[in-house]
Amino acid sequence: MVRQKELENHFEEAVSQRQFEVYYQPKYDVKGGRFYGAEALVRWNSPVEGMIPPGVFVPVFESNSMIIRLDEYIFEQVCRQIRQWLDRGFVVQPVSVNISRLHLYQKGFVERYLGLIRRWHVPPGLVELELTETVMFDNEELLGETLQDFRREGVPILMDDFGSGFANLDSVLALPFKVLKIDKTLLDNAVEDESAAALYRSVVEMIGKQGLSTVAEGVETAEQDRLIRSLGIDEAQGYFYAKPMPIEDIFATIQGS
Ligand code: C2E
Ligand code: CA
Ligand code: CA
Repeated sequence: MVRQKELENHFEEAVSQRQFEVYYQPKYDVKGGRFYGAEALVRWNSPVEGMIPPGVFVPVFESNSMIIRLDEYIFEQVCRQIRQWLDRGFVVQPVSVNISRLHLYQKGFVERYLGLIRRWHVPPGLVELELTETVMFDNEELLGETLQDFRREGVPILMDDFGSGFANLDSVLALPFKVLKIDKTLLDNAVEDESAAALYRSVVEMIGKQGLSTVAEGVETAEQDRLIRSLGIDEAQGYFYAKPMPIEDIFATIQGS
């Protein structure tokens, strides 16, 4: 509780002093054999504690709703960054941004995010949203409407951590997600055991049949890389290809691939 209070007390100061930084992890296009796009991941660069990973502060800020402000701040940083790249004449690839499921219950959520996209003149499709599987246990009707609102404006939504909980694949496929990111635990199990690999394969096939694409999360080894290739995964993310990196490095990494 003391730690929680400490993090909360420093939140405002951290925002105003720009201590929250965006790291980017490239996504690997498995069939194309090159990087394509990236995921934005927040880091807290504290002058006292150094780099604090999101696993420490995101749950705290979710418990007191400060995450709403933080997510919006990160989203705007990414929109601003994309605009800067475009203005310099770079060819920009999509960046996905994590958003807490708490946003769903915020009045004006869709309008605020669309407003930021317009303010920074980000062309449709260049910024995407990641929502974790747990969102399926919220108000499904509200979720469906929210996804439709974004889709109409050309903002793709990815389901994050699919398979980490018990969301039903049919209900997920009934909603307008563009991509399903398959949770790392499924991959870890699949390399260990044949039946888990068969399950992974059938999930990928079902997703593909619905016209959605698949991302394998947390690929760490050559063996896992071989497995996901054999399973027909579209894209992959993991330390095997590239770790999350600061803004200075991301462009060269993606363009050089
Ligand atoms: P996530 O969205 O599932 O992000 C993927 C996490 O896996 C990242 O951890 C990434 O660094 C890590 N990762 C990538 N490749 C590998 C790998 O090969 N092996 C292993 N073991 N890990 C890998 P990170 O950056 O620490 O973020 C943790 C979580 O914090 C994220 O999980 C996401 O749920 C949350 N998060 C991060 N940024 C934001 C944000 O801006 N807003 C919100 N609401 N949540 C965020
Ligand atoms: Ca994510
Ligand atoms: Ca994930």
